[in-house]
Amino acid sequence: MFKTEVRACRRCSLCCDTIQPVPGRGPRRSRIAIVGRNPGGTENRLGFPFNPEAPAGAELAQMLAAAGLQRRDVYLTNVVKCFIHGNQAPTSLECAFCARMWLWNELAALPRLKLLVLCGNEALGALLGLTGIQRWHAKPLYVAAQGDEATLPVRGDIEWPLTAPLRVLPILHPAAALRRPELRALAEQDVAAFYDEVAALESAT
Ligand code: SF4
Repeated sequence: MFKTEVRACRRCSLCCDTIQPVPGRGPRRSRIAIVGRNPGGTENRLGFPFNPEAPAGAELAQMLAAAGLQRRDVYLTNVVKCFIHGNQAPTSLECAFCARMWLWNELAALPRLKLLVLCGNEALGALLGLTGIQRWHAKPLYVAAQGDEATLPVRGDIEWPLTAPLRVLPILHPAAALRRPELRALAEQDVAAFYDEVAALESAT
């Protein structure tokens, strides 16, 4: 039902460029969710996020494999559900609007969610109100449940409607090191940090 609603969304002008909005995909009982920016050309055409036929999806699959996971083990989604002409980045306003429409509800519908991976500046900004992914990447954060004292240095007015405590791992977007080889070393730190988070999750169960 949720996916059908997302695909039918025409609530902002970004729908003009897209074939159809692309909802998240993955098991509802997943403990890990990975949030990217918005669908690229391949995702727009095929209709699911981080498509393995696209370079960023293939890069993400490698990070998952290094941690002993497959795509089907995690929930994959984007802050913004629509492709933007020229593969441009959505504005912070567009990110906030679409996330409020769909992303928060998507994440809240994952009852076992324990680890949230934020890929790139748009996800970092939309979910935590932080900027500068190169500053925050590969550093796990802890977000307490509503009503608890959060240990995360988030902006004062950030909305965090999820009700369960989470580990949050910001990483560079998988496409970043493909476009800018000088970021490869940072991306490798992200792969190592993700491995550690998954290992900690496994040992806690
Ligand atoms: S970007 Fe989000 S809010 Fe705007 S039309 Fe697409 S799905 Fe709807």
